[in-house]
Amino acid sequence: MAIDLVLRRDWNARAPRGDYTQLDSTKGVKVHYTGGRVDPAIVSDHSRCVALVRSIQGYHMDGNGWIDIGYTFVACPHRKVFEGRGLYHLPAANGPGLNAGHYAVLGLVGDSGLLQPPDGVLHGILDAVQYVRDHGRAGKEIKGHRDGYATDCPGEPLHSWVRRGAPRPGGGDGTPEPGAPPFPGRLLKYPPVMRGQDVRTWQARMRERGFDLAADGAYGAESREVCVRFQREQGVAADGIVGPVTWRLAWEAPPG
Ligand SMILES: [Zn+2]
Ligand SMILES: [Zn+2]
Repeated sequence: MAIDLVLRRDWNARAPRGDYTQLDSTKGVKVHYTGGRVDPAIVSDHSRCVALVRSIQGYHMDGNGWIDIGYTFVACPHRKVFEGRGLYHLPAANGPGLNAGHYAVLGLVGDSGLLQPPDGVLHGILDAVQYVRDHGRAGKEIKGHRDGYATDCPGEPLHSWVRRGAPRPGGGDGTPEPGAPPFPGRLLKYPPVMRGQDVRTWQARMRERGFDLAADGAYGAESREVCVRFQREQGVAADGIVGPVTWRLAWEAPPG
């Protein structure tokens, strides 16, 4: 799938305050998170992604005094890639002395709120990686901001993904990965009570995670309660509804 770029004019970016320092090539990419809270509501509302990227640019320009947003690209949960400083321009986010080595790609997750990167963020980061390799003379490296710099960034979920070699969600490199069964295609919610094998499958998985819940195939008040607790634990919107993200996290999130 081709990269789904959100150009600067599309996110209403402010013009940079000065000239970029030009880059000839880089060793690859460093992956970042926001380092602040990301509202989980962005997952269901792309306009909130746009607002967040604009606010990050404002913070970088007015707070840090940088000429522009510090990132080369920004990946959101909708597998869209915002154009930051763009190709062949020195980023600012990697830290002093480290910006010429790698392009800087932000995944829109934070240190609270939205913690676990949705698949769209991971795909978006990889789309950006491929794009800078194809068009920006970037090398093969994919590293985290904390590799070589004293910071928690990009957070444990993104960094463990980077350490595993930044695989595409759902595989694609031929090796089957343990993961979630396919999302059933309907939202599991209450009221009214919903029944089915998909409910039973999710309940059994919640039991494996240590929740006290009967795998009776009926999604009622108890299931909703477990769902809310699990969602809070994972930092996603705690709406008590098992949608695609909550379903996937049930299998793929580290044990709580
Ligand atoms: Zn960072
Ligand atoms: Zn988005």
